[in-house]
Amino acid sequence: MAASATPILHKPLGLLAELTHRCPLGCPYCSNPLALDPREGELDTATWARVFGEAAALGVLQVHLSGGEPGARRDLVDITASAHAAGLYSNLITSAVGITEKTLGALAAAGLDHVQISIQDSEQRSADRIAGYDGAFARKRALAAEVVRLGLPLTVNAVMHRANIERIGEMVDLAIALDASRVEIAHVQYYGWAIKNRATLMPTREQVERAAALVEELRARHHGRIVIDAVVPDYYARYPKPCVGGWGRRSLNVTPAGKVLPCHAAESIPGLEFWNVREHSLAEIWAHSPAFNAFRGTSWMKEPCVSCPRREQDFGGCRCQAFALTGDAAAADPVCHLSPEHGRVAALAAVREDAPYEYRRM
Ligand code: SF4
Ligand code: SF4
Repeated sequence: MAASATPILHKPLGLLAELTHRCPLGCPYCSNPLALDPREGELDTATWARVFGEAAALGVLQVHLSGGEPGARRDLVDITASAHAAGLYSNLITSAVGITEKTLGALAAAGLDHVQISIQDSEQRSADRIAGYDGAFARKRALAAEVVRLGLPLTVNAVMHRANIERIGEMVDLAIALDASRVEIAHVQYYGWAIKNRATLMPTREQVERAAALVEELRARHHGRIVIDAVVPDYYARYPKPCVGGWGRRSLNVTPAGKVLPCHAAESIPGLEFWNVREHSLAEIWAHSPAFNAFRGTSWMKEPCVSCPRREQDFGGCRCQAFALTGDAAAADPVCHLSPEHGRVAALAAVREDAPYEYRRM
């Protein structure tokens, strides 16, 4: 069957607002780009408010206030209030370092709907070492308690890799002890700084298989107490994930400097033309930006995707990963076992070393 020529223009549902790339932590798996946007180039409060209004008019329901660490923005409360005024459900994605109890109270009063706190490990010393920040673990626990005290729903985000994958059970216990309603067991996705640290972060296949079995067991054990989400690690998957729900299909991402990307790693693909909210409305960008139309729909696909029955399910996987691993952004994501380049993924997953982390710093 031939791939459809004219892609349908869906409504976006989610907006990732990267308010700043500044962050006090140095996580070696950070998916921020290696070239971080400087503070001087960040969008101002009024522009974010306009973007949120345009997003809501376009159909967006949910905004993720992210970074970097959004708490590095002095106007975070005003930004949150503008998301609320636009009618968006707002989710603060934070490291918890840089958000005081007082700020959190002001954010709640401004209409914040949900908080997601990343926790690097269940053990304090390991957590602080992975974060590259002494005292981070204690700070996260304290802010999580305050989130719950204020009555806001809490998600714990646990990024798993070789240094902590054996403690998934303890991470879930910690999330329960913190009264989180959800815990995300997210294996590292290899973009940005994570590619630099890939060999140090990479778990073995046996570890990943044990982790997957344990997550199922934990779901059954804690059913009704906490929701456990788990993202399968790409390099050990059989099929790719439908990255961002399909390119230009469900979500958009605004960088600190105002560029609008179909996914947070899209700038790693050379030759794409991104439009900026300083010059265009979000509706114009969504419909006409060359970057959004580059891989929308299925007409750009090559074999084996173009004749594959799964092409409308996973959309050929991740374009950024296809480029990073094959040099061709229109190729099948090589984590797919049907990709002729699949052998590269297995070869990379076999490279593991115990080198010190290269921390992400700004
Ligand atoms: S992954 Fe770590 S370093 Fe990167 S933005 Fe989040 S908290 Fe900061
Ligand atoms: S061949 Fe392409 S469309 Fe088919 S499963 Fe693999 S990546 Fe997905």
